[in-house]
Amino acid sequence: MKRRDFLHTTSLTGIAVASGAALMSCDHKNKEQKPVVSTSEENEITPIAIATWNVPEAVNKAWEVIENGGSALDAVEQGCRVEEANEEGQSVGVGGLPDRDGNVTLDACIMNAEGDYGAVVYLQNIKHPISVARKVMEETPHVLMAGKGAEQFALSSGFEKENLLTEASKKAWEEWKVTAKYKPIINIENHDTIGMLAIDKEGNISGGCTTSGLAYKMAGRVGDSPIIGSGLFVDNEIGAATATGMGEEVLKTVGSFLIVELMRQGRSPQQACEEAIERIVAKNKDRLQDFQVAYIAINKKGATGAHAIHSGFSVTSYTAEKQEIYNSSHYLSDS
Ligand code: ASP
Repeated sequence: MKRRDFLHTTSLTGIAVASGAALMSCDHKNKEQKPVVSTSEENEITPIAIATWNVPEAVNKAWEVIENGGSALDAVEQGCRVEEANEEGQSVGVGGLPDRDGNVTLDACIMNAEGDYGAVVYLQNIKHPISVARKVMEETPHVLMAGKGAEQFALSSGFEKENLLTEASKKAWEEWKVTAKYKPIINIENHDTIGMLAIDKEGNISGGCTTSGLAYKMAGRVGDSPIIGSGLFVDNEIGAATATGMGEEVLKTVGSFLIVELMRQGRSPQQACEEAIERIVAKNKDRLQDFQVAYIAINKKGATGAHAIHSGFSVTSYTAEKQEIYNSSHYLSDS
């Protein structure tokens, strides 16, 4: 089941599932759209854990870490690990849909409040790329490791080698092969990255991003998710942003860095997400039906924003005041 499909079927005590209409207008022409703004006073810290898609277990885990006084960095790592271990989620970690040759290849990155960053791309056979990314950040002089070298580094750091291709994902790939003629598909249905942002009780911001990338991609393809500034960016003075959707378009506009820089210039997280989506829209007017891109962002005060090209993008957000899953606003009013 795809994450976007179970928005209305997940039930979790204490979580308000709000419709997009209730939270934000879904019409891109409505420039009066109000971002979800924290009620906190100036300079007051508003701890938060927020993630792309409908992932209450993952965000709950991150929130638990924060509530217990843990760091935002631990929170995003622990939260992402929940989805990486979830075999039913076919876009992250174990159970991720493979490339067109049947290999599950994972990308992930993590960034802390000091501006340190670690990432792995094209990692195979290791269930928790987010934790390998953290080790790259903390235990090597590098920031980005790929393929076999990243796998060897993970194994030498104590991670276990395991088969990530579940029976369900293998079956989906075999069915795809029958109809697809080996062509990688570009559409809005076959991808869903988990990007997670958090502010801890000290007011520090961190982020993590983990994915198996575009389903049935060409062997060797890497998307935006592990690339600093594209799939994720954190600036502890300003805020953070993360992306999901067609990585090629996010990469070409360096989307998450753009959002953080727009917030630096005074935009709210919501306005910044909308402007980043509009950059992509402007370059792709004639093919918007083919792909989805969505962003979430937070600023230093804990205000949040979320915006997508198409409808159907959900966000999971936990603060001390509210735990909610909602649909973001979106650019295309007819999708
Ligand atoms: N952004 C990911 C990628 O392009 C996929 C996704 O979020 O759906 O690899």
